[in-house]
Amino acid sequence: MGGAGIAKYAAGAGPDGAPAAQGSHLTTMSQKCDRCGKGPMAGNNVSHSKVRTRRRFMPNLQSTRVLEGTRWVKTTLCTRCIRTASKQAS
Ligand SMILES: [Zn+2]
Repeated sequence: MGGAGIAKYAAGAGPDGAPAAQGSHLTTMSQKCDRCGKGPMAGNNVSHSKVRTRRRFMPNLQSTRVLEGTRWVKTTLCTRCIRTASKQAS
């Protein structure tokens, strides 16, 4: 990621005023990218004895701000979308 962590892109749909998430990453926050909608995937932890327990694969979400017109709006994006946005901005 470049550009001092600032991603600029014109979002099609503006983010609704999502409350600032706090606490554990397993609760409260909707674990979705505001741009591509990527969310948690389900899978198994498999031990050496092949005992399977359920787990969740979380997307790498980061809180960033994007330039919408003239305003900076805080959004939650996956790192893939932040990278794409920073490439489109230049
Ligand atoms: Zn995304």
